[in-house]
Amino acid sequence: MPERVVNTFLELVKINSTSRNEAEMRGHLLGELRRLGYRPAADKKGNVHLTLSGALANGPALLFNAHLDTVVPGNNIQPRVLADRIVSDGTTILGADDKAGVAALLEMLKLLQEKKILFHKIKIILTVEEEIGLRGAKALSFQDVQADYCFVLDSDGAVGSVVNKAPAQEVLDFRVRGRSAHAGLEPEAGINAIKIAALAVSKIKSGRIDSETTANVGVIRGGAATNIVPEEVLVKTEARSRDERSLQKQARGMIAAFQKAAQKLGGTVEIARRREYEKVDVPPDAPIIKISRLAARRLKLPHRVLASGGGSDASVIFGRGVPTIGLCIGMEKVHTKQEYITLRNLTLLPKYLLEIIRAANDYERTAVSR
Ligand SMILES: [Zn+2]
Repeated sequence: MPERVVNTFLELVKINSTSRNEAEMRGHLLGELRRLGYRPAADKKGNVHLTLSGALANGPALLFNAHLDTVVPGNNIQPRVLADRIVSDGTTILGADDKAGVAALLEMLKLLQEKKILFHKIKIILTVEEEIGLRGAKALSFQDVQADYCFVLDSDGAVGSVVNKAPAQEVLDFRVRGRSAHAGLEPEAGINAIKIAALAVSKIKSGRIDSETTANVGVIRGGAATNIVPEEVLVKTEARSRDERSLQKQARGMIAAFQKAAQKLGGTVEIARRREYEKVDVPPDAPIIKISRLAARRLKLPHRVLASGGGSDASVIFGRGVPTIGLCIGMEKVHTKQEYITLRNLTLLPKYLLEIIRAANDYERTAVSR
């Protein structure tokens, strides 16, 4: 007999919910939560909110977060349950990112009722459009995310480990302009924007820059025809780092490469730069880490504290001033058709969440009496 959370998971991954198309998934979850006797709400952006007041008069307020959307190809997912894991049929992603997190939260709520677990306050926020720029999370107010500790269920790796560091990200778009001319009749009158972009890109450091920093030239778009000297090229890049100085240095280097190339070849460059999200940086001795460790120990799970290279809703919620860590939820090879989750991790996750609730209460009590 498979555990209940496995069936919940299989049900959720069959609901189509690629980014911006979360309505059916949201409707399903609102229904499930109401069936459990709760009163969830959806905000204007489409995020689902649930706030529970428990029997404990005092104690920490805990926020749990996961996201409703998936990447593509994510429609008509046909999960296959193998001996030790769940996979897709190979034509789509599985959607364990992030439905393993959502399924575990539903199971946690059921266990809270059945086992009559004591707690003070628990909030759950399920966001939309995480995969296309954390847009659901960015629509949350400070009030929405107010909590003593926040756990974001959206990291790969074995259940029991946590993520305390994630990079900040800068996005830099370079619009390179040259001058168009007929390539056969009057090439001398033209300034080739593609040549400028190519020169700049060849000078840019990209890939893994240092242990904290990465950069990527991700999109290049421009030119109209072989017989026209191209007038305009758009180059989209990003840089991420867990170290602010290194991030700034990388961004400066990319900007300088484009400015120099434009100058050298007689064109111009227009730069649009934005901070996509802030870094997550929770000290390894912070209470939230200790709580996650205590919970892992009680289940005899290895507890590793990891640095991530990716952004998540944690980036936004931590940026709102809430102590926030990522929980490893057992999903693997995410954003690929080879994505999978082991049955062991999927069934462990709700148990780990319950232990986190217990450990948070215990930690606060001992901290107060100290
Ligand atoms: Zn995710």
